Amino acid sequence: HIKTGTKNGVRRFEPSLDAEIERHKVIEREFQFALDREQLHLVFQPIYVLDSGEMRKVEALLRWTHPVFGSVPPAVFIPIAEANSHIVSVGQWVLQEACRQAQQWRTFNHASLIVTVNVSPLQFAQPSFVDVVREALYKSGLSPELLELELTEGAVMHSLQAVQQTLTDLKRLGVKVAIDDFGTGYSSLSYLKDLPISCIKIDRSFVADLGMPRHAPQFALALVEAIVGIARTLDLDIVAEGIETPAQQSMLKDLGCDLGQGFLYSRPLSAVELQRLLQPLTSPSSSRSQRYN
Ligand code: C2E
Ligand code: MG
Ligand code: MG
Ligand code: MG
Repeated sequence: HIKTGTKNGVRRFEPSLDAEIERHKVIEREFQFALDREQLHLVFQPIYVLDSGEMRKVEALLRWTHPVFGSVPPAVFIPIAEANSHIVSVGQWVLQEACRQAQQWRTFNHASLIVTVNVSPLQFAQPSFVDVVREALYKSGLSPELLELELTEGAVMHSLQAVQQTLTDLKRLGVKVAIDDFGTGYSSLSYLKDLPISCIKIDRSFVADLGMPRHAPQFALALVEAIVGIARTLDLDIVAEGIETPAQQSMLKDLGCDLGQGFLYSRPLSAVELQRLLQPLTSPSSSRSQRYN
C-alpha cells in the first residue's frame, strides 16, 4: 500500500494536506506510465443468476500493481486519472482487453457469457467513444451483444441530450448499457424510461443495509423493492452488487432481484482463474463448475 507523508515525519494515518497533495502528485505521475510499463491488468468478477447459480456475466475490473507501492486500489487512482484525462486512453485499453479476453473464453464453451466494462464519465463523453467501442469489438471479434458498458448515474445525467444520442448509437451497434451504483446518484427514476439501457445495478451500500437488523434496513428494502418494480416494468436486468451474506441473498431473491455479484459467490478473479471456472471438465459433475452452489 501507498505510504504517505512518512518522509517528513508526518504520521501516516493523519496525512497533512501537503502530504495528501504530494501523494496525489506521485500517483498522478506514476499512473501515466502504468500502461506502457505493463503494470495494469484486469480481473473479472462473476455475476450469477440468483435462482439457478448460472454465471451470466463477468465484470472487468482494473488493477494497478506498482513496483514500489504494490497494489493501488481503483478508488485511489481512477479519480486522479479522471481528473487529468488519463482515464480516456486507459479506458480504451480496458475495453479492448476485456473484449479480447471475453472472445477468448468463448472458445472454452461459454457461448453467451457477457463481459461488462466500467466506463468513466469523461471517456463516455468523448465524441469518438462509439468508434472506440466499435473498434474494440472489431479487433477482438466479439459479438456486440456480449458487451455491456457500465455507466454511473452521474455520467448519464451529465448532459442528457448528448448522452441520449450516444446511447442510441450504442444500442444500434448492439451493445448493452447498465447503470452502475444505482441509487447513489441524483437521477430521477423517470429518466429511466427514456434511456435505451438494459440493466440496473443496485449499489452495494443498499445491499449492505439488508439483513442488518441494527442498521434499520427498511429504507434499503423499500428502495430495492421500488427499483425491482421499475426494472420489471421496463424489462431491464437487475443486478445486486456486494452480496456478502446468505441473508442478503435470500432477501434479494424474495424481492425479485434476478442477478447478483459479491464476495459470497466470488471475489474478482484473474483471467486464468475465471477460465478454469468456465472450462468444461471431463467428469460428469462438470456442470457444477459454472455454478456457485
Ligand atoms: P464498481 O464498478 O461498483 O465495482 C464493484 C466494486 O465492488 C469492485 O471494487 C469489487 O471488487 C467490489 N465488490 C464486489 N463484490 C463485493 C462485496 O461483496 N463486498 C465488497 N466490499 N466489495 C465488493 P474495485 O475493483 O475496487 O473497483 C472500485 C471501483 O473502481 C468500481 O466500482 C468502478 O467504479 C471503478 N473501476 C474499476 N475498474 C474500472 C475501469 O476499468 N474503468 C473505470 N472507469 N472505473 C473502474
Ligand atoms: Mg461496475
Ligand atoms: Mg457498481
Ligand atoms: Mg459500487
